[in-house]
Amino acid sequence: MPIYEYQPSSGKHCDYCIDGFELLRKISDVNLEQCPQCHAPVVRKISAPNIGGSGPSLDSENIGKHGFTQYKRAGKGVYEKTAGKGPSVITDD
Ligand SMILES: [Zn+2]
Repeated sequence: MPIYEYQPSSGKHCDYCIDGFELLRKISDVNLEQCPQCHAPVVRKISAPNIGGSGPSLDSENIGKHGFTQYKRAGKGVYEKTAGKGPSVITDD
């Protein structure tokens, strides 16, 4: 199970979440949005994987796996999906 790091996002915090905190989560768990102690809004910290790399790898496969959707610009106002769920093409107009 991955350990996710969270940090308070609104300026509200308690002793538990002030410096961020780590939580063991199942991939299937819904995204945590509040500190479990004080219920302040929190965001997930994006931290580098522990494989000695130079940073988080955001390849398309990982993005899809983590429930994100990624689009790349395919033309003026047109975006093609490269990973995740959602329409395969979105347009600005
Ligand atoms: Zn808190």
